[in-house]
Amino acid sequence: MGKVKTPDWILEGFDSLEAYNKAKGKKAEKKSSKTFKIKKCPACASTNVGVVLGEVGMWRCNDCGFKGTEIIEEEVSEEEFLNYLDKQEKK
Ligand SMILES: [Zn+2]
Repeated sequence: MGKVKTPDWILEGFDSLEAYNKAKGKKAEKKSSKTFKIKKCPACASTNVGVVLGEVGMWRCNDCGFKGTEIIEEEVSEEEFLNYLDKQEKK
């Protein structure tokens, strides 16, 4: 008899090939998931910032009153972004 290669899904302890593919598919999806940008105040790191109407590129922090164009942009995962939105809603 020739060598029979044990399938990866068995080696990795999955119940079926289907479960294996599902798990692998999920992982791949997570890796390529989008990133979101959160704006932060450079003075106090608050995310409670907004654009100043009528002034292009101008930002204002609602917590410390900072006003300027040099806002911090932080790249976060979708999960972190949802957490951030959740926090914003609770304010
Ligand atoms: Zn601030």
